[in-house]
Amino acid sequence: MRPLSYTQIATYQSCPLLYRLQYIDGLKPKEKGYFSFGSVLHLCAEYFFRVKVPPPPSLNELLDYYQQSWLSEGYQSAEEEENYQAYGREILIGFWRIHSADFRMPLAIEKMFYIDIDGIKLRGFIDRVDKLDSGGLSIVDYKSNQELFPSEYLRSNLQLTLYQLAAEQLWYLPVEKLTLYHLRSNTPCSCQPRQGSQLEEARRLVVEVAENIAGNRFPAVENQYCPCDFPEHCPYYRHQYMGNSIDSDRQAALSRIPEADLVERYVSLQAEIKELECQLEEVRQMIVDFCQNEGLSRVFGREHAVTYKLVEKTGFSEDMVRALLEPEGLWGEVLSFDQSRLRHLITGDKLAEDIRQQLKALRQVISTYPRLFPKKLTDEE
Ligand code: SF4
Repeated sequence: MRPLSYTQIATYQSCPLLYRLQYIDGLKPKEKGYFSFGSVLHLCAEYFFRVKVPPPPSLNELLDYYQQSWLSEGYQSAEEEENYQAYGREILIGFWRIHSADFRMPLAIEKMFYIDIDGIKLRGFIDRVDKLDSGGLSIVDYKSNQELFPSEYLRSNLQLTLYQLAAEQLWYLPVEKLTLYHLRSNTPCSCQPRQGSQLEEARRLVVEVAENIAGNRFPAVENQYCPCDFPEHCPYYRHQYMGNSIDSDRQAALSRIPEADLVERYVSLQAEIKELECQLEEVRQMIVDFCQNEGLSRVFGREHAVTYKLVEKTGFSEDMVRALLEPEGLWGEVLSFDQSRLRHLITGDKLAEDIRQQLKALRQVISTYPRLFPKKLTDEE
């Protein structure tokens, strides 16, 4: 099997079908301005720290390098590109001020790694590794995301966990600090290194993803970024493109597909049923109230009558039944396997970690049934 990277693992986790389309079928994602922008900022951060001896490049050198490295791909308009370019200069001026003031030579820049995780090859590049005064390592990954990273996100970020695994294998030194560097605000968002159980969990995840890929398991899984760049290959979106050119207007395209009418009819029937159920419950409650207030057991309409009864529900006390059946060796006869209690047990804190993992590994599909999930489309969709 080909080596996996963090990006591939993250793509598989978000949608296995997207992984297949990109990394097996070789479809190319559309170019996007913010990707080009992020790549250029990465290059500049690398350029700044990749010096043989201090000092680092001057601000003019850094800005010249930025200009030469600029990537124009993916911007919606010349104006958008210009705005991004000016914004990038501001970011780099801040970056230069902060890091030239306390410049220290990093241990490694864009460090390529290629490690083995339980037989699976994992490869990647770590943006920057610093050696701390304590002798331990600090890992920095540059990000051009819009928002800062909350601490919970940092604590569970898989990329940092995998980079810690890689760095400790490469240098045989403990990682003491993990950082996602938020370029847009020049803010290092740092957290503590991972402990044994989290590293173990990440190793298991890498193996699990590799096994799923080897087993050709590529279901489409909808997520917050849908539709991706390949909706015409996705079972959730392909219908909009059936028999029509991708560029045709959606409404016009759908008007030629008979199933589009079925969808609208299904949704409107569901709404009617819901409304009728509300009305039914309201009327039922009025009749019950009337019978209770008037002490009646039956009320008459013009063609029908409705009888009111308090229906009793009987059952057994578990303790009493158990006390009777257990001595007879029959208690097991009335117990049955309870899936929801098992799920509760797995997510609770009563289980030892290895038993929890073994139980999780036993999870499998035991039946399937068709179900429909309607939703209102937004203009964008
Ligand atoms: S649009 Fe389909 S293939 Fe693309 S990410 Fe969403 S579910 Fe996966």
